[in-house]
Amino acid sequence: MLELRSHLAGRWQSGDGRAATLYNPTTEAAIATCSTAGLDLGAALAFARAHGGPALRELTFAQRGALLQAMREAIHADREGLIELAVQNGGNTRGDAKFDIDGALATLGYYADLGKAMGDRKFVVDGAAENIVRGGRVQGHHVRLPRRGVAVHINAFNFPAWGLAEKAATSLLAGVPVLSKPATSTALVAHRMVELLVEKNVLPAGVFSLLTGSVGDLLDHLGPQDVVAFTGSADTGARIRGHQRVLAAGVPVGVEADSLNSTVLAADAEDSTYDALIRHIHTEMTQKAGQKCTATRRILVPRDRVADVIADVSERLRGVVVGDPGREDVHMGPVSTADQRRSAEEGIAALMASGAKPVFGAPGRGEPLGVEAGKGYFVSPLLLLAEDAHGAGAVHDLEVFGPVSTVLPYDGSVADAAALVARGQGSLVCSIYGDDRPWLENALQEIGPYHGRVSVVDAKIADKAFAPGMVLPGLNHGGPGRAGGGSELGGVRGLEFYTQRVVAQGNGPLLARFLGIAAEG
Ligand code: NAP
Repeated sequence: MLELRSHLAGRWQSGDGRAATLYNPTTEAAIATCSTAGLDLGAALAFARAHGGPALRELTFAQRGALLQAMREAIHADREGLIELAVQNGGNTRGDAKFDIDGALATLGYYADLGKAMGDRKFVVDGAAENIVRGGRVQGHHVRLPRRGVAVHINAFNFPAWGLAEKAATSLLAGVPVLSKPATSTALVAHRMVELLVEKNVLPAGVFSLLTGSVGDLLDHLGPQDVVAFTGSADTGARIRGHQRVLAAGVPVGVEADSLNSTVLAADAEDSTYDALIRHIHTEMTQKAGQKCTATRRILVPRDRVADVIADVSERLRGVVVGDPGREDVHMGPVSTADQRRSAEEGIAALMASGAKPVFGAPGRGEPLGVEAGKGYFVSPLLLLAEDAHGAGAVHDLEVFGPVSTVLPYDGSVADAAALVARGQGSLVCSIYGDDRPWLENALQEIGPYHGRVSVVDAKIADKAFAPGMVLPGLNHGGPGRAGGGSELGGVRGLEFYTQRVVAQGNGPLLARFLGIAAEG
């Protein structure tokens, strides 16, 4: 069986303890093992700080951008192989696998271009000089300098390629080396990506390390210049935030966690706007078998349109073929692990106990196509209706990470929609579909503060709008409250987390010369 290794301190290393096993979620066959036991993670971080950091910091943004472009090309060279691994280890259809892998490539490409555009500078200048004393000689220059530590990236199981690349792109462009830890259960894709980078010798030593398997004692070795960017469940996020060493060293922790994303049909929507809503609900429920942090979990519909929405979403879901994701005639595969299936089943039971009733599909695995009887971690698409939207507590509190969404009737007012949306306690994204402009303006103001991103779709853009689950490198990704309070991507904004804001205060023109920026005032 394939043994996955870690790439630390500039070389491939194997753990020596009990190995974790990775499975094919369609057949339940074991496909690989990995272990991190016995690895010297303190030495791995020290190596990255000593070699990776200086190697990156001596490069300009344009040169770091060129490294990202080289990463993109090295990974793209085995795009087909990566898609195959995602089908095997993630239960992805080819379409799902491309969504992850092409998302990774596009994000690397975006940040490569951004680096090129940022040119010969090595750090970010944070606004114009502040005059402290009249006359302009005594000034403060705000800059953002790359932190001198390592960016530890801990990723979730659902996007092994994109998760690795989106965090790496911002960190490396900022000038900070990376130690990336994919979720163990689906690490095959991330492992292969790093193999490609190592085989092609794309990055200087220490710039990118990979920890394949359990996190071990990694956090015990963090220092005050390191950062942790985490994506996963709220529970694990809280554990990392509260880790003794993280607290003692003041290590910044970025958390991207659970999210009860909502979509809202406004009281007044033209046909093309309404059609976009139905199309997007279908995508969000079935893409990656609903295992997207940005997937729509709650569908708010004015009471008099509920029957239409249920009928139209159901018609689309009826066409979804669930089964072996390697087959071209299959649209949705299994969820990625046995644990995820168990957690989805328990979650569906909790939603139903809270008053939600199936209006399309039934809880269970269905009859997946091309799969041995009883095998595979399948969860059938399920649309629920909670007649008492305010009373269905679990629908607002529990993220069921699968092809499941709940219709919530509301009275058509912005106030009622906003009150229901806010019950999610902070989400990554809300999408609003409507054509009454004052209504939309009011909704944006009322709903916005509970989200990192609000997608507003009207008839003018209905045929071009992306489904809300699509995360774009130029736009902020993250959300307040239970979504973790994190912020990633957003173009140059994504570099903030990896840099220290410093103000150089004193003789303005002299300091401007030291910093290589134009003097002002
Ligand atoms: P998870 O169980 O919290 O695991 C996430 C990562 O944390 C894995 O790499 C895991 O490693 C690691 N980990 C586990 N225990 C740890 C500890 N004590 N210290 C440090 N790291 C630890 O979450 P998951 O099941 O992979 O992901 C599902 C969740 O992620 C969903 O709730 C989803 O909403 C969320 N998610 C959020 C976003 C976003 O951008 N907001 C994106 C994708 C997913 P092992 O695999 O080795 O245990």
